[in-house]
Amino acid sequence: MGQHRSASASKLLGLDGFEILAAQVVGGEWQLEVQTTATAVGCQGCGVRAELHGRRRVQVRDLPIGGRPVVLAWRKRLWRCQEPACEVRTWTEQTAAIRPRAVLTQRARAEGCRRVGKDAHAVAAVARDLGVGWATIMRAVADHGRPLVDDAARLEGVATLGLDETTFLKATRVAPTRYVTGLVDLEGGRLLDVVADRTRAAVHSWLDARPPAWLAQVGTVALDPWRGYASALVAPLGHARVVVDHFHAVRLANTVVDQVRRRTQQATLGHRGRKRDPLYRIRKLLLTAAEQLTQQGRVRLRAGLAAGDPTGEVAAAWQGKELLRAVYAAVGMPAARAALDRFYRWCDAVGVPELSRLAGTVRAWEAEVLAFHATDGCSNGSTEAVNLLIKKVKRVGHGFRNFANYRLRLLLHCGVRWQTHQTARLRGRYPRLVA
Ligand SMILES: [Zn+2]
Repeated sequence: MGQHRSASASKLLGLDGFEILAAQVVGGEWQLEVQTTATAVGCQGCGVRAELHGRRRVQVRDLPIGGRPVVLAWRKRLWRCQEPACEVRTWTEQTAAIRPRAVLTQRARAEGCRRVGKDAHAVAAVARDLGVGWATIMRAVADHGRPLVDDAARLEGVATLGLDETTFLKATRVAPTRYVTGLVDLEGGRLLDVVADRTRAAVHSWLDARPPAWLAQVGTVALDPWRGYASALVAPLGHARVVVDHFHAVRLANTVVDQVRRRTQQATLGHRGRKRDPLYRIRKLLLTAAEQLTQQGRVRLRAGLAAGDPTGEVAAAWQGKELLRAVYAAVGMPAARAALDRFYRWCDAVGVPELSRLAGTVRAWEAEVLAFHATDGCSNGSTEAVNLLIKKVKRVGHGFRNFANYRLRLLLHCGVRWQTHQTARLRGRYPRLVA
């Protein structure tokens, strides 16, 4: 395109109220000379038609076109009121598409927010693609993302609430590990919120902020039995059924298997697990559900235990884990009750300290463990959804130092429904492309 206006080029740019005056590629980037289509405006003070007083050139970055970065050189008009008696003298034109002193167009800022939020791309990568700084993208994420996250409708319709803690920041030499508690809609599989800390108070104040109608429709709460969550729930969610779900119980039992394995390694070898140590080599097999083990896996598991577990304590812990899993796999309450008794008898008989502690915890939470069998809404499917969210949380959360940013990023990634354009298939039975 040359130095003359082109209606189709302007249409291609698709920036409402703007037209292209000239376009050229400079250093691999589109340099587009643009102006607004507002050629006649009235004075804001008196309404008299204004006259053109001059132009100012403003440069902003926009969305790429055809894979090329784009710089818009906006020839911004300065207007002057022609009415001598009017107090308004001159002003520069304004547009919603490009805010005063902006580095990016509004739509590029919105796209930056979508890529960081929905797609969980790194801020630095998006900044590089759009040709701006890290802080510019982070501001765009905050400006466009906060209204989505603050939208009250986002929290509607929760019948099963899941609570889970996750690591926010790994410990460093100068700071301890920090945790956050995630609140999850287990049926919708979405993150409702994250609160700093894993204390009862943190969960309680979040629940306190919910309207009574919201709390009333929560029928089931699934939680990690290790925390003070249950007591935080008593007042606001006293009507709800509290469940220790499959996911949390198995995670707990797996922790016990790991603890016994490490203690045994230390006792038999005098050091922590190394690559060639028999127990270290089967550490993942030990945590695999028994019915998921392949024939070869079972053989390796037995061989590893025979070589590295002289006291049989690791095998006993593994059996305890499987017996607790059986409580969840049981069909119906009587069968679950019987499975639970088998678990207790085993833990009491083998006398492995870590396993005895696990049995003590399960006893303290027995009603909530068995309640799993009284709920349909707390199935394995939903606990898997939580698991998935936790993985996302950790992946996205890598390297965060600021909780507000972290929360925003997490909620944009797994707590917000994005309205995005659905592309039609170009080749198919119903092509939508019309000449
Ligand atoms: Zn005027």
